Amino acid sequence: MSELETTGTRLRGLKAFARSVSLSNPERKRPCPNCTKIARIFKPQPRIARIVHPHKIHHWIASLAEFRNQTNCPTCLNVVQCLQKQVSGDSRYVNIWFVRYRWKLYVNIVSLDLTPVGPHKEHSVVGVAFDCLDRDWIDVKRVKEWAKFCDESHSGVCHSITDPWWTFQRPEQLYLIGVTRRCLVRGQEMDQYVALSYVWGDLLAPFQTDMYNFNALCQDGAFDIPANKCRLPKTIQDSMVLAGLLGKKLWVDRFCIVQDDLKHKPKMLKSMASVYANAYLTIVARDGSDDEFGLRGIATNTPRKSPFRFFDFGPDCQLITTVDPVNQTYKYDTRAWTFQEEIISRRKLDFVHGTVNWTCEKMFSTENMATPSDVPLRPNTHRLNILSYASLVKDYSKRQLSYPEDTLDAFGAITTIASKSMKGGIFYGLL
Ligand SMILES: [Zn+2]
Ligand SMILES: [Zn+2]
Repeated sequence: MSELETTGTRLRGLKAFARSVSLSNPERKRPCPNCTKIARIFKPQPRIARIVHPHKIHHWIASLAEFRNQTNCPTCLNVVQCLQKQVSGDSRYVNIWFVRYRWKLYVNIVSLDLTPVGPHKEHSVVGVAFDCLDRDWIDVKRVKEWAKFCDESHSGVCHSITDPWWTFQRPEQLYLIGVTRRCLVRGQEMDQYVALSYVWGDLLAPFQTDMYNFNALCQDGAFDIPANKCRLPKTIQDSMVLAGLLGKKLWVDRFCIVQDDLKHKPKMLKSMASVYANAYLTIVARDGSDDEFGLRGIATNTPRKSPFRFFDFGPDCQLITTVDPVNQTYKYDTRAWTFQEEIISRRKLDFVHGTVNWTCEKMFSTENMATPSDVPLRPNTHRLNILSYASLVKDYSKRQLSYPEDTLDAFGAITTIASKSMKGGIFYGLL
């Protein structure tokens, strides 16, 4: 069963199928008998409650050989190819298996060997995970479910920080982007905001808040004025959309710090950790090499480049596989400021490899992961010791900065935590 648990699919119900209809190829030939059987399981689109009925958990389809014999059906051959990576032998049967986990229902297409093996005469099972996720668009409902689950279940860990070493007071004066009013607003104490962690572009004169345009940007609709809107980087535009969908305001350094205010800016640069530590959640825009890449799949005009393998079982039944982890270097991971932004943030939505992941102190989940992990990935609720501090310094020193004078500020939060954690504190990086 453990192999099954690592793979999984979620059936999202009517909406996903309705939307997938429009994606189907009108030229497509009549589905083969195997694909028809699979599509029939989802038709008429049943309610989740009926699918999870114990007698309906398994659906036998056909033997692997019968799938292989459908030489004119690319979907069947695709299934065989996926399953054969893990098994050999035509005696195996292809079976659809529903697994319920927390708020989700997953679909596994598994190959089950009918010959009992081992001392307990168990059947061996391997699986390919599928999901009814959309190829082009991220399901914001799922993102909201993660946040809601964390809100309700991880109290005191993920959103009210009780750990003395990692606590940062919220900055007294915080400008935010009011995504409904489409302008800068003065943040109130109770305002919840989403913070954006991203890589700036290379523009010499980027659109940002300066003293001369500050008042204009505080007027309702300021970001919708054509002259401003066309200069608003896509990643920021999309983050405004996402913050709006989550019902929160947005904090972005470029606009929420007055860039040429010599009193306000240095104060804010020293408070960056507080901004991220006190955010409702942080959007980590890891994909792309600058702020024009956007949060693809969120906004209405930028579909993502789908990382999923696509299976077309019929005009109204299309599933996609889970994604294997990718080894890739992102510019985001080479920049200095993003280092502490990511470490300090308690809850993160990570836009990476065309998909989105959730990480909080108690849970890690991907868009199509069967079993969200309960194990925290970063031990950042722990007190820093000299070894963990040294390791962070080593990692940070590989990062790049546009302005070398920011070196201490961009690492300031880690130094503050270390000095609180260690007896005697830290003086200019010295223990
Ligand atoms: Zn087929
Ligand atoms: Zn949480």
